[in-house]
Amino acid sequence: MSVALVTGGGGGIGRAIALRLAAGGADVAVVDMDEGLGAETERLVEETGRRALFLKADVSRSEDVAGFVAQTEDRLGPIHAFANNAGIEGVVAPIFEYPEDVFDRLLAVNAKGVFLGLKHVLARMRTRGAGAVVNTASTSAIRGRAGLAGYVATKHAVLGLTRVAALDVAGTGIRVNAVLPGPIETRMIHALDTQAQQAGGIKRAGAEAASAYGRPEDVAGVVAFLLSEEAGHVNGAAWTVDAGSTIA
Ligand code: NAD
Repeated sequence: MSVALVTGGGGGIGRAIALRLAAGGADVAVVDMDEGLGAETERLVEETGRRALFLKADVSRSEDVAGFVAQTEDRLGPIHAFANNAGIEGVVAPIFEYPEDVFDRLLAVNAKGVFLGLKHVLARMRTRGAGAVVNTASTSAIRGRAGLAGYVATKHAVLGLTRVAALDVAGTGIRVNAVLPGPIETRMIHALDTQAQQAGGIKRAGAEAASAYGRPEDVAGVVAFLLSEEAGHVNGAAWTVDAGSTIA
């Protein structure tokens, strides 16, 4: 049976990915900083009949990433599928007021965390010449958003890292793609909406504001597809899951 690793697996989208991959027959390692949320996903995966392993870790810390990748392989087996998904939203503030420490933390988690996951997982996949990775970017990887300097900058970075990694492993039996969700019904989008209102009504633009929130399962289905053999010729793609809002 295949083994999957999901970072941010305690959160809305990460948990849906973990459960979707378990439903497809994978044993799943769940990484999260939040012990309660991560342990709950572990329990839910076990309920599906698959093996689960919760590992508490901070994706921005090199030793943590090396540790959870090694522990996953030692305890579950070689990683076939990696959902590099953990991320944070930071604050909503115009760039001339955006706090530097928040920007630094977003770089550490959303950009460096994704880099570290790619570095450590791809090093192992390369020894086997097989595997697939999906990085969770955002529609903020391909457009600007008022008040979201840290988030938008780091999601653009996730797309850049996806493209570099896809080229670095091209032709080796490994693929790296990105999923770009629009607003999805999770803790994160509600936190952003509340902050945007408090910051004086910074709103999502145009068609995106009009479209309904997606569900975490809408993202999980696409991630599972991109991680599967069905997507065997897809590499370096930026796959939007936004009901068409970014093409309007
Ligand atoms: P969420 O806050 O529900 O889940 C994020 C999870 O990541 C949480 O469980 C959190 O504890 C964990 N996490 C945060 N920092 C971590 C760290 N340093 N190390 C380990 N775990 C950490 O949010 P979500 O909506 O499920 O977001 C998941 C991903 O999807 C993020 O990368 C986010 O940027 C992206 N995304 C979300 C939306 C949306 O509208 N919800 C849209 C586009 C992209």
